[in-house]
Amino acid sequence: ACAISPRAIVSDACASYSTLERLNSKVKPALDELTQTTDFFSHYRVNLFHKKCPFWNDENGMCGNIACAVETLDNEEDIPPVWRASELGKLEGPRARHPGKSMQKEQPERPLQGRLGENVGESCVVEYDDECDDRDYCVPEDESASSKGDYVSLLRNPERFTGYAGDGAKQVWDAIYRENCFQRSSFPHAAELGKETSAKGPAAMDFKAVLEAAGRQQVLEEQRQHNPLTPFVAKTGFEHEDECLEKRVFYRIISGMHASISTHLCWDFLNQTTGQWQPNVDCYVNRLHKFPDRISNLYFNFALLTRAIAKLGPYLSQHQDYTFCLGDPDQDAATRAKVMAVTDRAASVPQIFDESLMFKNGEGPSLKEDFRNRFRNVSRLMDCVGCDKCRLWGKLQTAGYGAALKVLFEFDNNDSPPVLPILKRTELVALFNTYARLSSSIDAIQKFRKMVEQPDAAA
Ligand code: FAD
Repeated sequence: ACAISPRAIVSDACASYSTLERLNSKVKPALDELTQTTDFFSHYRVNLFHKKCPFWNDENGMCGNIACAVETLDNEEDIPPVWRASELGKLEGPRARHPGKSMQKEQPERPLQGRLGENVGESCVVEYDDECDDRDYCVPEDESASSKGDYVSLLRNPERFTGYAGDGAKQVWDAIYRENCFQRSSFPHAAELGKETSAKGPAAMDFKAVLEAAGRQQVLEEQRQHNPLTPFVAKTGFEHEDECLEKRVFYRIISGMHASISTHLCWDFLNQTTGQWQPNVDCYVNRLHKFPDRISNLYFNFALLTRAIAKLGPYLSQHQDYTFCLGDPDQDAATRAKVMAVTDRAASVPQIFDESLMFKNGEGPSLKEDFRNRFRNVSRLMDCVGCDKCRLWGKLQTAGYGAALKVLFEFDNNDSPPVLPILKRTELVALFNTYARLSSSIDAIQKFRKMVEQPDAAA
């Protein structure tokens, strides 16, 4: 009776912030344990360096350089080199390459050669399965690149302030929100172009051609004028009634992800005068507190992922197809128990999000395909992010939301016989880590709220 309709605003009586905060206080310790103490969930395979931005010329979009960073740092030359944006955005720790198919045959036992670190059980990190699935909401990591990507330690590369800002970052966010325009906009989106010209290859390439032909600025301006959500963005809640449910959900997911990234960079902020990492209340106030709709969207995402994780729980416990550590039954059992601790807590509240309301009407199937294609484009856009650490977490989180959407909309609990949601290792790692990001964002927002409301107590 208390499920969050995708239509609801989070402050509705039965799904209030406090309900979700109470749930989070139960889920967070289990999520921290899972993502911080298991090899399986603390390493992510991602192709960070071998894919080009498919939508525009990398030279313009990349912003890991000082010219871009100076917009946020008053005078970058005055601060020590290690605090500069170009340094803060770099990955840290050892990285290990995916073994690849030929290497699997030669070295089945220790494909990663211990390069991830001394205490990493490599068989708990490496995966061999790269098959794609039509139901994916994300672009498989090896779609167009020959490399299978690198294994990266998430613990050694926390999501936090990097100084990545300016035109490069703005261009990526603008393009991400543009994917929300669906058919109502006259702007030709990658997904639509892809349908018309699928023989020519990935939709992204057509989108790039359009952008180049039209001129980036002109296109952005056109998008701003046609974006059906422009009036909504300024308001709180979902008051833009002529916008269909699915489109609003798409927008909320993106905006909630953006809000979560902003929360982490404000919470783990580098004071470039003192060199201290500390929460930055002004950053929180200016990016989040003044925009209740953004915070609402973040909580909405927490509800959405809670539902996906709760739905996945029974499959993960009943079906032994999922092994969390090939060849090591003890580690497999220990990791499985930590996964179940998270899924059980996520399932401990009444169903919190009702996905069955979506994609129901006449245009349901085509709308769903459109939704999926647009989400794939958002995941492709992550290759345009010009800061390694931001790209890592951007890719992980879009993959995490993609996996959640796949669980919610592509697998039906009522199917008989039940259809197993086969998720790849990367999808599972992304899903649980994205849930952990939202969980820590909610925790940080509660603390920030206190700092704003009772500044003396916080001091
Ligand atoms: P931005 O956050 O860039 O926002 C641009 C515009 O979008 C705003 O002016 C506003 O109109 C609108 N907007 C902002 N938030 C929302 C929202 N929640 N919902 C709807 N609309 C919104 N920086 C880091 O320091 N660390 C990171 O890990 C990091 N990861 C990133 C990952 C990605 C994928 C991208 C694209 C950027 C990342 N950045 C990161 C950069 C960061 O998100 C900001 O772009 C940067 O800090 C500049 O912020 P800004 O104040 O100009 O506004």
